[in-house]
Amino acid sequence: MKSKKLFLLLIALLALLVMTACGSSDDAANDNDSDDATTADTTADTTTEDVAETSDETYSVGISMPTKSSTRWISDGESMVQFFEEQGYETDLQYAEDDIPNQLAQIENMVTKGVDVLVIAAIDGTTLSDVLQQAADQGIKVIAYDRLIRDSGNVDYYATFDNFQVGVLQASYIEDALGLADGNGPFNIELFGGSPDDNNAYFFYDGAMSVLQPYIDNGQLVVPSGQMGMDQVSTLRWDGATAQARMENLLSAYYTEERVDAVLSPYDGLSIGIISSLKGVGYGSDDLPMPVVTGQDAELPSVKSILAGEQTSTVFKDTRELAKQTVAMVDALLSGEEVPVNDTETYENGVKIVPSYLLVPVSVDINNWEEALIETGYYTADEFE
Ligand code: BGC
Repeated sequence: MKSKKLFLLLIALLALLVMTACGSSDDAANDNDSDDATTADTTADTTTEDVAETSDETYSVGISMPTKSSTRWISDGESMVQFFEEQGYETDLQYAEDDIPNQLAQIENMVTKGVDVLVIAAIDGTTLSDVLQQAADQGIKVIAYDRLIRDSGNVDYYATFDNFQVGVLQASYIEDALGLADGNGPFNIELFGGSPDDNNAYFFYDGAMSVLQPYIDNGQLVVPSGQMGMDQVSTLRWDGATAQARMENLLSAYYTEERVDAVLSPYDGLSIGIISSLKGVGYGSDDLPMPVVTGQDAELPSVKSILAGEQTSTVFKDTRELAKQTVAMVDALLSGEEVPVNDTETYENGVKIVPSYLLVPVSVDINNWEEALIETGYYTADEFE
């Protein structure tokens, strides 16, 4: 991209001259997060970025996140901007509010601006093939962030957590809490899955079922609704209200005479909705204790819910570590060094196996939340006061 950069540099300088002469500026970029501190020319806000992109030293990265409705993605975005900028990168961070055309437009804009690399957590992992082809045609590198991008050969690397293991941790929590390994049961359980357009949702579900299925098969766990498999238990766009409504339906259809002992929930935002339905019919009292309810992301409301004795557990995925790992991978990629990966088998995206780095998720409950979340500085103690 270097000769192209030189050409763009000349164009940018020319444009700067013309604009200075006309006394006008033209802000084409939808850029709300890029602060440029590294370029010599800071006379015009709007041209600074073009000049910076064309310098040999400064790379720019487009960061496309799915939504701000879940705090984990806010932490991911903030950490990446911080770590990339510490390394001298320019950043353009955009959130698409779970709207697929919005995310596509944001990525197209980044491609048009000529970023050097895209880091994308896709809303729907199957919708980006065209824009990624445009990116590839311009030599832009692509990292799938947390969620695998499917059906495209133009995904260079994948940075994520061990998604199968997330499901294993959630289900193992249920296994321990109910004493299933000791032969206890039968217990009633209901299963929730994540969004069917998110590749991760299948890994979470499969990981969980690798633990739960044997107990369902031997009768220690019973699913009174009979609803099993991602086609029956998924929750479009990870929407808490959808999970709440489904839980209400399950409770009224299958639990008038029975009690639910455990709910497999793959994400804190769903757990909050599920717990709200449970409380609505009286769970959480001495007569009717809360079932075991799992979760994921250690979001503040859910950690508070764990402290209040409602949600039982969550899975903590330190977004700072994922951001750090991503920056390391991008850095290696752009400087032609070997990109750190630790899995070259698992993540087949429909076109290729995407080389991946998997970080380790941690199960969190009332017993280890301080160690996992406060002592590591992820939250401060006063956020719980
Ligand atoms: C992420 C989870 C998150 C979920 C909902 C998944 O792709 O891996 O951490 O809970 O999306 O945002």
